[in-house]
Amino acid sequence: MANIVKDIKGILEFYRALGFDALPLSFEAVKRIYTERKNDSRVVDSPATPGFIKLKEASLKALREEIGDCRRCKLAAGRKNIVFGEGNPDARLMFVGEGPGREEDIQARPFVGDAGTLLTRLIEKMGFKREEVYIANIVKCRPPMNRDPERDEIESCRGFVERQIEIISPTVIISLGRISSQTLLGNATLKMTAVRGHFFDYRGIPLMPTFHPAYLLRNPKDKWLTWSDAQMVLERLENINE
Ligand code: URA
Repeated sequence: MANIVKDIKGILEFYRALGFDALPLSFEAVKRIYTERKNDSRVVDSPATPGFIKLKEASLKALREEIGDCRRCKLAAGRKNIVFGEGNPDARLMFVGEGPGREEDIQARPFVGDAGTLLTRLIEKMGFKREEVYIANIVKCRPPMNRDPERDEIESCRGFVERQIEIISPTVIISLGRISSQTLLGNATLKMTAVRGHFFDYRGIPLMPTFHPAYLLRNPKDKWLTWSDAQMVLERLENINE
């Protein structure tokens, strides 16, 4: 209870710092004002920053609550747990995978199986700790026998990852594999070999598609290509200094 009061107090202080005397309605509106304020050279170290991170945290929590004990698609029948996503709500780098596998379904955490170990190694090789980035999936429930998520399942769920991206507002997104890249880029026929290594625009955010870690476990000779994609991302992060 004390934590909730602290969270709400932080959010209200943040709104007051932005000059509101009533609660605004949309996260988009708050973000716009925050971004304008942050880009104002007179604001050297915005006092709103800690409040803004709290707002992101609270917005992610509210989104998770909205998902609830989801029954919006047929994946609900076979899942043990919903895997919402995890990491830094203010991450500059966000990874989006396809959907939970067996281990993720058990632990309710993204990328904690063998593919997760490889992803964590990539994140660390890039110079981040896993908890400094944000990791989510296109669908939040495990497809049976780890099959690809189907179109209706993706359509039921995609709004949630889109809102996670909106809240976190990362500087760069890495989409892991075909399903994630096709869904975020709205192109159901794109081929990973054609798009990886190139930046695309996702609603104003640079997005780099790269191979899914599960593919790399089966095709280790392609790991160097993903490392090359990761280096392009690091360069982009360096050039966009927020
Ligand atoms: N594969 C994914 O796409 N996501 C996970 O969370 C785990 C494996």
